[in-house]
Amino acid sequence: MTSIPQYSLTDEQLAIRDMVRQITEERIAPRAAEIDAKGEYPHDLRKLLGEQGIYGLAIPEEYGGTHTEEGCGTLTLNIAVEEISKACSSTALTLMVAELGTLPIRIAGTEEQKQKWLPKVATGEWSSAFGLSEPEAGSDVAGMLTRAVKDGDEYVITGSKSWITNAGIADYYIIFAVTDKEAKHKGISAFVMEADRPGFAVTSLEHKMGIKGSPTGSLSFDEVRIPAENLLGNEGEGFKIAMQTLDRSRLGVAAQGLGIAQGALDYASAYAKERKAFGKVLTEFQAVSGKLADAAIGCAAGRELLYKAACGVDRQDPGFGAMSSMAKVFCADHAMKTTVEMVQVLGGSGYVVEYPMERFMRDAKITQIYEGAQEIQRVVIARSL
Ligand SMILES: Cc1cc2nc3c(=O)[nH]c(=O)nc-3n(C[C@H](O)[C@H](O)[C@H](O)COP(=O)(O)OP(=O)(O)OC[C@H]3O[C@@H](n4cnc5c(N)ncnc54)[C@H](O)[C@@H]3O)c2cc1C
Repeated sequence: MTSIPQYSLTDEQLAIRDMVRQITEERIAPRAAEIDAKGEYPHDLRKLLGEQGIYGLAIPEEYGGTHTEEGCGTLTLNIAVEEISKACSSTALTLMVAELGTLPIRIAGTEEQKQKWLPKVATGEWSSAFGLSEPEAGSDVAGMLTRAVKDGDEYVITGSKSWITNAGIADYYIIFAVTDKEAKHKGISAFVMEADRPGFAVTSLEHKMGIKGSPTGSLSFDEVRIPAENLLGNEGEGFKIAMQTLDRSRLGVAAQGLGIAQGALDYASAYAKERKAFGKVLTEFQAVSGKLADAAIGCAAGRELLYKAACGVDRQDPGFGAMSSMAKVFCADHAMKTTVEMVQVLGGSGYVVEYPMERFMRDAKITQIYEGAQEIQRVVIARSL
């Protein structure tokens, strides 16, 4: 393990980090290549993370989890995401989605809604999904076409969603739909939809470059009826709920990127200390050791930015949204750059599936795209200046 300066963590956070690190090394890392090769959702590891209370890091104490804002729970959660991502991004994503698919309820749900939906995610019994993107509305969220029409004490949802993580796995989906077309982004509302509602279908699953153990799919809604009590907040508050969610959850993507970069660096530096060329180990060549140093610098810097942003979210510091965008951009770009360079450090071994490096590189790319592409984050940051 590369030794780099650590942000000042509490004893509890250090204990959780060490516990997750141990589980990752002993149980998750040995499964990672197989999950990737077979493109299989890691049901076994989800059970394990549930049993170990790791999904509970995303859920407040009052609803069966261990998350507290005073204890900087967003930081603790993201330390766990970082640790798991050092070995398996798909498994880390199951934890990230436990946050993404519950934050809208935490932010806007009634006490009854929180009691109903959150505790079973904390144990890993249920999984959730976040249905915002559509074929014609990715970065431009307000361009969504899925609509929800009130009919008595129900809403009728019609339309489609694309790119939804946990498609076909989730027990419930947070669905964003237009309730007032004229009001544009102020006419979007958020709902909780159970997966077994008639008229709902997962229409296709994507074949992806990376994070292959995480199903990503398209959803269709053919006059799906849901009770009006499944509305989160008030009509028209959906866009605000989505943005408030993403301000927090994109730190998970930053943590995933950071973990991938650190995992790639750890592997490459161990390899470079053993591998010989021209009678010397690779670390004796400055062209190689410089790549390792640059990777370590970026991980240390990214970690400081991420950890500071995570605590800022919990304290609701002014400008925490822009800070979380900065952490996401920095860590995701560093993940991509580092994994490309660490493939290079391994030479031919970096390019083949017998070694984890090409998987790290494929997995890194998504961190620059989802939960708001890098270009959109830079727009958010620039606007805050
Ligand atoms: C594996 C995977 C999992 C995903 N999981 C989920 C999920 O669970 N839930 C969900 O709702 N969505 C999910 N998404 C969707 C993801 O958030 C979107 O793909 C992403 O927001 C980009 O939207 P888009 O693909 O439509 O790209 P587009 O919006 O078409 O953008 C294409 C390119 O143009 C750039 N661009 C667009 N507008 C601007 C602008 N104004 N200024 C500068 N550049 C711009 C973008 O940055 C990007 O580089 C997932 C996507 C993938 C691939």
